[in-house]
Amino acid sequence: MILITRPSQPPAYAERAALGQTALEATAAEGGFKAQRRYDFDSSIWLAAREVLREASYGKCVWCESQADYTSLAGIEHYRPKHRAEGLRKGEIHPDHYWWLAYSWDNLVFSCENCNRAKRNRFPVVGKRLEPGGPSGAEQPLLLDPYGTDDPSEHLWFEDDGTVRPISHRGDVTIEVLALNRPDLVERRREAAALTLSVLAAAPDPIPVSTLAELTAPRREYVGLRRQLLERHQLRVGTEAAAEISVPETVTIVPPDIGAVWIEKVDIVNFGCFHELELRFSAPGEGYEPWIVVLGANGSGKSTILRAIALALCSEDARRRLAPDASKYVNRDARASRGHVRIRFNQGDELRLEASRGSRHFTVTGRRPEFALAGYGPTRLLPHRTTSTSHRATGPQLANLFDPWASLANAEPWLADPRQVPPDDFKVLASSLKTLMSVTDEIALSRRSGKMRARMFNTTVDLDELSDGYQSILALSLDLSLAFGGERGQGYSTENFEGMVLIDELEVHLHPEWKMRVVSDLRSVFPHLQFVATTHDPLCLRGLQPGELHLLERRDGTITHQQTDVPPGLDADEILTGSWFGLDTTLDPKVQADLMQYRNLRLAGHGPDDPAVADLQHGLELTLGSYTGTSLGRVMVEAAGELVAEQAAPAAAADTKLTKDQIKERLLAHARERTE
Ligand SMILES: [Zn+2]
Repeated sequence: MILITRPSQPPAYAERAALGQTALEATAAEGGFKAQRRYDFDSSIWLAAREVLREASYGKCVWCESQADYTSLAGIEHYRPKHRAEGLRKGEIHPDHYWWLAYSWDNLVFSCENCNRAKRNRFPVVGKRLEPGGPSGAEQPLLLDPYGTDDPSEHLWFEDDGTVRPISHRGDVTIEVLALNRPDLVERRREAAALTLSVLAAAPDPIPVSTLAELTAPRREYVGLRRQLLERHQLRVGTEAAAEISVPETVTIVPPDIGAVWIEKVDIVNFGCFHELELRFSAPGEGYEPWIVVLGANGSGKSTILRAIALALCSEDARRRLAPDASKYVNRDARASRGHVRIRFNQGDELRLEASRGSRHFTVTGRRPEFALAGYGPTRLLPHRTTSTSHRATGPQLANLFDPWASLANAEPWLADPRQVPPDDFKVLASSLKTLMSVTDEIALSRRSGKMRARMFNTTVDLDELSDGYQSILALSLDLSLAFGGERGQGYSTENFEGMVLIDELEVHLHPEWKMRVVSDLRSVFPHLQFVATTHDPLCLRGLQPGELHLLERRDGTITHQQTDVPPGLDADEILTGSWFGLDTTLDPKVQADLMQYRNLRLAGHGPDDPAVADLQHGLELTLGSYTGTSLGRVMVEAAGELVAEQAAPAAAADTKLTKDQIKERLLAHARERTE
């Protein structure tokens, strides 16, 4: 990091920023987060600043000095976060800070995606923060400001091996918040250091001015490091100022778990039904973590993936409870007597969980950074009102992933209790959850007598009066809020939650419309949680980004894995008929025969109340459901029924064969209707 002169603000930017500012001020005037309002930031405004700021730092990220990818949209970020700033203490969140600086020219920085992904909303200060909306007073930020006046070289000490060491409080916070010792970056700095040292070793004394200029030109990558190496070289061997180099001591003040942690890769070897499986997370999106969604039929090992990750990441106690006999997890067909799961974290840590045939206990090697986790099985039973949260084992919420009868926590009484969740925290949480209900400001969440209520259009309803779709997605979100916010102490801003969520059969309880939205809704409410989800239902694939979809297929006893993509913006019919979904496999002879019988009964005048018709319909829903998810099955049955009703006269026996194409056509028309 070096100091950079901030260019002056282009008039065109100032104009757009002023408009954006007016909109933010209106939100603040309505009460901001206290009125459960969310600031609506216009990212196109920042785009207008990108070119000017990019040039000022020669295309380099101002934090890590790597050449930032110019094609990426994640070029302009904020020194002070645009809202929900986090402090040094876990869960310390300032919901309104710093909305009024979101478009302020002096607050914009040119940053690479990696630094931005690490920094997120972290902005620790010493003492008091600025007054919301007020002038920048005497706030003392701990994060170094590359456009400021404080020379970063007084806070950061670069070593020859590419690592950087804090030599002040601010240096320490800056290194941790931006993850400046991430392995790929250290490696690149090590190469730069080696090159610089070889140039210096070969240079005459005194070093020619042209060599000096070339070595320390601000346009070069890692020039903060190069300048320090040069300075030390001159102190050591320079003719004029030969002197002892004083090496400052390392200073640390921040808690070790302040930095963002995420998982980059999972390897599963001879574990469960897998011989070898590698799952790699793709690059992050603009401000959100990548997902992994595994699509496959039953028996393709989807749940094993989730359980393998859960077992590797949970505590030893939880592991013993969830999987008492480790030897059962070694692949039965493998010749090897051991199987393992290996997880690689962003900061270079690796964790390895091993099972062997001879032992009931897992062995774990490697370091597990502070990392929060929750997991849910396919039967996410909603809790009864009478269930208290206290019965739940402390630690990560994983029981439901291993035991279908373990219900979700009853988060409602907890959320509704002001002693557990203070009023301001509740407002922060409520404003996040409202995104899920795809309502804006007409709705407000409130609480009374241990119950949560939603006030919409002048009426107040209890949460259990909401539709199933609302309820199931809300129950999951509330459980996540309890797991990450309450139990893991990450505050109540769902946007700031960090960690991993494992969900088996994402589509459960959701209507088609909700399935189409579930990925984008969860992503916008929990942008920094990494989700690994499985599904049977292609409707849930909507909203996935490149690199996120993984297909599993079992063929001749072997499971094959393939990463593929769903092009964005597909219609329901395109999703349903894509190559990633073998629609034909759902229409096996038995299903077709049942559909035929159903059709014939309806043609003969039997209504839906007729026991035979009802039986067939029920059976078809179950059969089709096991292939494709219940709602799709229901749609197919309805489609078959409609086809029947439309045909005026009973057809001759030879013509009654309902073709695949007819069913497919009906199905698609129906799906389109239901999802528009
Ligand atoms: Zn960077």
